[in-house]
Amino acid sequence: EVPLAVDGLVKSYRNGFRAVDGVTWRAERGQVVGLLGPNGAGKTTTMRMLVGLVRSDAGTVHVLGRRVAPGAPVLARVGALIEGPGALPHLTGRQNLEAAWAATGRPRDEADLEEVLAIAALGAAADKPVRSYSQGMRQRLGIAQAMLGTPELLLLDEPLNGLDPPQIRALRDVLRDYAAGGRTVVVSSHLLSEVQQTCSHVVVVHRGRVVLDGAVDDLLAGH
Ligand code: ADP
Ligand code: ADP
Repeated sequence: EVPLAVDGLVKSYRNGFRAVDGVTWRAERGQVVGLLGPNGAGKTTTMRMLVGLVRSDAGTVHVLGRRVAPGAPVLARVGALIEGPGALPHLTGRQNLEAAWAATGRPRDEADLEEVLAIAALGAAADKPVRSYSQGMRQRLGIAQAMLGTPELLLLDEPLNGLDPPQIRALRDVLRDYAAGGRTVVVSSHLLSEVQQTCSHVVVVHRGRVVLDGAVDDLLAGH
């Protein structure tokens, strides 16, 4: 069962612009896959289709063997950070995670909550309202929320945005360990260096098409 299979995916916006132009790629267990491309390449559009937030014109997305489409409930085994409304500002970071957990309908797991809170590295701010958070803190909270319940597939759209270098290094280790445990991570990025340092595999997209796909060590070594 492939964790993530994207086949012939196409999406044009109403103005006729084809943001994603027939992309096919896979993410396997144990991999940290970087979806790399300049702004406008179609990364966010793709990520939104991966979780069924946007309807594709053609092609399919299969997550853990199940077809993903708008209207179909997103599998509990998928965690995602996709640009959106974000955390509830009047609640604390901890309360946001508790609320996200409650929304899954699963019994609460204190150990897991503490684990993702540690990843968010909010310190004492975990008990302060999110409206007082910096962009980096909000970003880390979003990543932590996506990791609640240890989903088999983790999808993060530009997760390193707003983080400083030590935080980026810490997150890199977290994501590698996560994948090394037999899970799958997909991160989008517009920065080659980020993908080089964080990912085991890369899918390079340009103008809605895949232009390169393979192991980071094979494709990006020496650049
Ligand atoms: P990336 O995440 O790689 O920057 P996006 O998926 O956000 O790329 O955007 C791909 C292209 O689609 C861009 O040229 C963008 O301007 C265009 N686009 C995104 N959303 C819309 C929309 N709602 N309507 C029209 N064009 C859009
Ligand atoms: P460094 O010593 O520079 O921190 P590592 O030796 O840990 O880097 O990894 C070197 C390369 O190995 C990385 O650039 C990456 O492409 C690859 N790599 C191996 N395993 C993984 C993994 N599970 N996740 C991400 N990258 C990995």
